[in-house]
Amino acid sequence: MIRLAIYGAAGKMGTRVVSLASKDDRFEIAAAVERPDSQKIGIDCGILAEIGEIGVPISDSASGFDVLIDFTTPIGTLSAIELALENGAALVTGTTGLEEEHISALKEASNKIGVFRASNFSRGIAVVAEVVGQLAKTFPDTDIEIVEAHHRLKTDSPSGTALTLGERIAEARGCELAEIAAFGRHGNLGQRPSGQIGIHAIRGGDIIGEHRIVFALPHETIIIEHRAIDRDLFASGALEAAVFVNGKIGYFEMKDLIELH
Ligand code: NAD
Repeated sequence: MIRLAIYGAAGKMGTRVVSLASKDDRFEIAAAVERPDSQKIGIDCGILAEIGEIGVPISDSASGFDVLIDFTTPIGTLSAIELALENGAALVTGTTGLEEEHISALKEASNKIGVFRASNFSRGIAVVAEVVGQLAKTFPDTDIEIVEAHHRLKTDSPSGTALTLGERIAEARGCELAEIAAFGRHGNLGQRPSGQIGIHAIRGGDIIGEHRIVFALPHETIIIEHRAIDRDLFASGALEAAVFVNGKIGYFEMKDLIELH
């Protein structure tokens, strides 16, 4: 059995990870962690996940685990890295909004422990990322726009997934996303430069996560769309990543987990 610690265990994703892991024989929930100032400290994580008490109260620390699953904030991820290193445990992180300093810290930690990072744990999105890269290569002159939609509580924009998709397209075109991205448009900006990737964020209601990638060509338009139906998509993907990274050292992503045919 893999002993799991869940970082951000009272959150929308953390509670789904607790719920799914508690029903899965491959896992034992060893710890449930929250911010030290969280009102949830001391409450059983099973109660928060609406599965009943499981004897694991929310705490601000953890020990005796094999894999730490982190769904928090970029600052939370830095503390999660420390906790995983202190315990010689692997780290699975799905936190988005990470900047260069956070990614560097993850990569440095991966010299000592297993680190699995995904901005989206859906296998479907992992395949979509490959397909959009292929389309960008096949049609080098196409105008590409990414439109994503998420719930009103999401704080980072655009989504980590939109950025990952944009990076895949930029990579296929041999450049960096920052050089060619237009994050929204407003005003008289002149004609659309060729090679630009437009990235747009919709925020509202309870939308779990939707991504539409538009390839506008002369005479035809290709649209690829992915919709997450519920958060268990991401929670179950994070658990698969935990199984994959347990006992390994190094840096891993979704493309290491899925087999493309
Ligand atoms: P949420 O706000 O519902 O939950 C986050 C939890 O983390 C909260 O309970 C908060 O108290 C806790 N937290 C914050 N800082 C902390 C710290 N320093 N130490 C310990 N706990 C801390 O958010 P959510 O919807 O669960 O999303 C969390 C993150 O996961 C976001 O970055 C989101 O974009 C990302 N996410 C990723 C995927 C994916 O597939 N990779 C899917 C959904 C959400």
